Amino acid sequence: MQPRPSWDEYFMSIAHEVARRSNCLSRHVAAVVVREKRLISTGYNGTPRNTRNCFEGGCKRCAARMSGIPSGSNLEECACSHGEENAIVQAAYHGISLKDSTIYSTYSPCLMCAKMIINAGIKEVVYAAEYPLADRARELMLEAGIWLRQYERKQSDQPAAFMPITPPQYSSVPTTPYTLT
Ligand SMILES: [Zn+2]
Ligand SMILES: [Zn+2]
Repeated sequence: MQPRPSWDEYFMSIAHEVARRSNCLSRHVAAVVVREKRLISTGYNGTPRNTRNCFEGGCKRCAARMSGIPSGSNLEECACSHGEENAIVQAAYHGISLKDSTIYSTYSPCLMCAKMIINAGIKEVVYAAEYPLADRARELMLEAGIWLRQYERKQSDQPAAFMPITPPQYSSVPTTPYTLT
């Protein structure tokens, strides 16, 4: 039996999977929101619902970013929502409270997402990669009492010692462990 992933690994690998749905030319980012070890919302970055995808020309700023304007510039003109933003907004769409939840994000949140995280009542932020423009966001989240930590892929949980039956082998189950890139 393959070792089971830890909870952090489980949710962060789902966040990385969600990021694959991103339609943004600049960066693929996603977040998942978890309460009591249950996944309650997901979001990836891209242009708003019912508008043209970023990769189809839906965001002029991301298109300009691809033709050479520096990372982080003209952000106020960007039509793409962020992964954390969309995870919070998806919960609102379904009428789900995020109070006391944990958000797992493939990048550390930007300032705008940090403000939304604080006011949505999210209590913990776990992120994989450092977003380069996130200093003020970090400061603000710490001031607001949010628990902030960077995800570290640890040794997976050991397989349950009491497992009495060998589970069937499904060919669709990946045989190599998930690696963060
Ligand atoms: Zn974009
Ligand atoms: Zn953001």
